[in-house]
Amino acid sequence: MSYLADEFNMTKATISDTVKTLEQKQLIKKEYETNDTRSYIIHLTKKGNDLAEQTSLFAKQIQIPIDKLHATEKENLLLSLLDIIHHLNKSGIINIQRMCFTCHFYKSNKNGQEHFCGLLNTKLADTELRIDCAEHKQKQTV
Ligand code: SF4
Repeated sequence: MSYLADEFNMTKATISDTVKTLEQKQLIKKEYETNDTRSYIIHLTKKGNDLAEQTSLFAKQIQIPIDKLHATEKENLLLSLLDIIHHLNKSGIINIQRMCFTCHFYKSNKNGQEHFCGLLNTKLADTELRIDCAEHKQKQTV
């Protein structure tokens, strides 16, 4: 519950109610841990999976105009989206993100045109900037 609450920027109570509702509608099922009955894994049921596929169709529509963009336009779109997410995070509208711009290991040159990952010890092209990096470490602000 805590993990999902952080991930979706909601309270644990809201997540708990949502999980309960989804279970009553037979869209998910819980698989309890054998050693700890307080912990469980949430799986989609067949009905839940079908519904998830249907609702994901709207996102697939976004792909069509993006596919038509030139590579440079796609890079600019990516950078713009990263800027928007970074701004929303700094404004406190979204909590959880694991993007390069807020990572302890991230460095850029003065005008932000070049990116460097101190963990991988390598330059990152615009297209290699990550938005959900497993190695992300939150940059400390002073
Ligand atoms: S560790 Fe991941 S998020 Fe951090 S700078 Fe490197 S690639 Fe980006």
